[in-house]
Amino acid sequence: MDKYNVKCLLCGEVHDPHAQSCKRGDDSLLRTYYTAKQLIPGDLPGIWRYYDWLPTDGIIEEGSGRTVTYRSKGLAYALGLDELWIAFNGYWPEKDAYLMTCTFKDLESFPTMQRLREQKEKRVMVVASAGNTARAFAHVCSITGQPLLLVVPAQSAHRLWTLHDDNHSICLVTVDGDYFDAISLAGDISSREGFVNEGGARNVARRDGMATVMLDAVLTSKTLPDHYLQAVGSGTGGISAWEASMRLLEDGRFGTTLPKLHLGQSLPCAPLYSMWHGIETVDPACPRGMYDDVLFNRKPPFAVRGGVSDALEATGGTIYAVSNKEASRARELFEDCEGIDINPAAAVAVATLVQALEAGNVKPDERIVLNITGGGQKLLMRDYELKQLPVSLAVSAKDKEAGIKIVEKVSEIFGLQDDGV
Ligand SMILES: *Cc1c(COP(=O)(O)O)cnc(C)c1O
Repeated sequence: MDKYNVKCLLCGEVHDPHAQSCKRGDDSLLRTYYTAKQLIPGDLPGIWRYYDWLPTDGIIEEGSGRTVTYRSKGLAYALGLDELWIAFNGYWPEKDAYLMTCTFKDLESFPTMQRLREQKEKRVMVVASAGNTARAFAHVCSITGQPLLLVVPAQSAHRLWTLHDDNHSICLVTVDGDYFDAISLAGDISSREGFVNEGGARNVARRDGMATVMLDAVLTSKTLPDHYLQAVGSGTGGISAWEASMRLLEDGRFGTTLPKLHLGQSLPCAPLYSMWHGIETVDPACPRGMYDDVLFNRKPPFAVRGGVSDALEATGGTIYAVSNKEASRARELFEDCEGIDINPAAAVAVATLVQALEAGNVKPDERIVLNITGGGQKLLMRDYELKQLPVSLAVSAKDKEAGIKIVEKVSEIFGLQDDGV
């Protein structure tokens, strides 16, 4: 029997395991269905502990980490909570946390690249990102040597570091524009011959990788929580937490109720919040003014079948919008209480918890999982030297020739046979 299959949520048809959309054109995410109905953690490194529920047939031995879940004392006490579990994603050796790019994007990049290896994919993977995703893909490709084209807004280039000396398989292009410009350009390039798009929320390896946050939290706390909180941009992590919860329900050992999703966005650019509540929050100047622009996404997978709207409806969840002031207070509170530095995006999740408690949506005696999506970078910088990725090419979003220039640069670096033009 196959380890898993991939189905459309509308027509139910089994698809090629690597497909990213329904071949009949249904507006639905495809979802993985695993043969193993009970989750037995394997004795494998990093994320591969959850191998049975990852859509791969093999692992990347080196370099992956995983979520580490622990029961909070400090923050729980400060907020008056009985049972707060922190799902920490980042670097924190004291807790055995070794996500070496300091965010949960590593949980997406490893399964995605493993699948490309299985397909013997020769094309160049194209990733557009405001930073954390790009860094996670750079990390895994520095290990596996797979060719990678990163398209990143120029203002985000500072987030592009690795711990590796040898990054020869990476072409980093900066775009003088925003994340959306980077996405459009990457979309144009990946439609050319010789390139392949990583697929974002449509990529089941990304979602099932992120789903391991919930798997880790539930295996550690031994039960499905009442509530799951996370800061979101695309909302993919929220969808993944819901999908993991459904699998854990079916497992039968962890409870009978889906955890409610409480997703937090950063004002003034909170499109998912706007779509869910029908209140306009997106300023044309976005992502300017955000506490953390990695949380901005102009076209999140909201209404698509199996997307954010379905996840919120199915779990009885909701979305919050957090001001910069709330986020910075929450960051201080968390860092003081828990003794680890966190990413600004993760501070938005902490502020979301504060709001959810104030609104009475989460009660102090309920079981809570708080996803700290990134942390420990200060600690990592104490222990390691970060190496900035060199920029291979800088283009302007307004330049009509930008696509061609990038393809030429990629052929120069990787020596592609067919330049794809
Ligand atoms: C990407 C990211 C998020 C938001 O993730 P979604 O794709 O919206 O689930 C939150 N925190 C950090 C640190 C991130 O890098």
